[in-house]
Amino acid sequence: MESEQTLSIIKPDGVRRNLIGAILKRFEENGLILTAMKMTSLSKSQAEGFYAVHRERPFFASLTDYMSSGPIVVSVLDGYNAISKNRELMGATNPQDAAEGTIRKDFAESLEANTVHGSDAPETAREEIGFFFPGWELIGSKRS
Ligand code: UDP
Ligand code: MG
Repeated sequence: MESEQTLSIIKPDGVRRNLIGAILKRFEENGLILTAMKMTSLSKSQAEGFYAVHRERPFFASLTDYMSSGPIVVSVLDGYNAISKNRELMGATNPQDAAEGTIRKDFAESLEANTVHGSDAPETAREEIGFFFPGWELIGSKRS
């Protein structure tokens, strides 16, 4: 079974409400391995770069204000089907639609402040990991 990597972000609302440990615990309990991690923050223009795919959307200005409003915790998660596994643990984008037991169902404040980000495909995972951890793939990622 080949493992894959995905990028996770605990968004400013999650860090602000002291949920880092609770969220990381869910990844670990579900077999995702943390292979890189840091607390950092995004400037407005960095948030605009990260979410460039959404630049034409009506929520872009508000989303990038919010994402640059405080510290975030960024991780690379490694595991079999890590991208979809993480999306499953996160739950639907709108917490009102998120399944029971998901991170967004349990913790999200709103559609915008929905506590976590996760890459949605192998190509975006590669790009997003490179955004926060340049050269990460060269360093060697495997912990196990
Ligand atoms: N978002 C928002 N309003 C919307 C849709 C999305 O504020 O109508 C925010 C929300 O924080 C979401 C992020 O924009 O997580 C990126 O949207 P996407 O559709 O990529 O959802 P995700 O992949 O995070 O589930
Ligand atoms: Mg997305």
